Amino acid sequence: MSDLTHLFEKIARGDVPSHKVYEDEQVFAFLDINPLSRGHTLVIPRQRYERLDDLPPEVGAAIGRALPRIAAAVCRATGAHSYNVLSNTGREAGQVVPHVHFHIIPWHGPDRSLGIRWPATPIEEDDAKALRDEIASALADGH
Ligand code: AMP
Repeated sequence: MSDLTHLFEKIARGDVPSHKVYEDEQVFAFLDINPLSRGHTLVIPRQRYERLDDLPPEVGAAIGRALPRIAAAVCRATGAHSYNVLSNTGREAGQVVPHVHFHIIPWHGPDRSLGIRWPATPIEEDDAKALRDEIASALADGH
């Protein structure tokens, strides 16, 4: 386990210092130490779950309740109107800290924002139908 594994639990407990902006029983939010833009904030469950899809429904609900309020406050404080919310899950997708977190990244101009590559191509109708069925059936199975 790397040093980063338990970092966010320590931050939520106050054992490692952070610039806290919000906390409740289940959720903690603080400024990113290496921001992509002014106001870049991280929102985490206090308890460590590595992946978004590991979250129990009640913890997911607590994060869902807090995110819009925190995003609104970040906008009010920084004067941003646009922002991205991002959760990297898995190393290949850019997750460095193995504790679920949502980045709130205010847009302050093209060089002071997330900057996403979005190489989209139109969906294929046959694949869309197959995928829809597979995802819906995985949900029905509770996976
Ligand atoms: P990710 O790549 O999605 O895992 O993002 C991890 C984020 O945690 C990065 O944006 C880091 O800048 C941020 N980070 C790492 N250590 C700290 C810390 N001690 N305090 C605040 N943010 C941190």
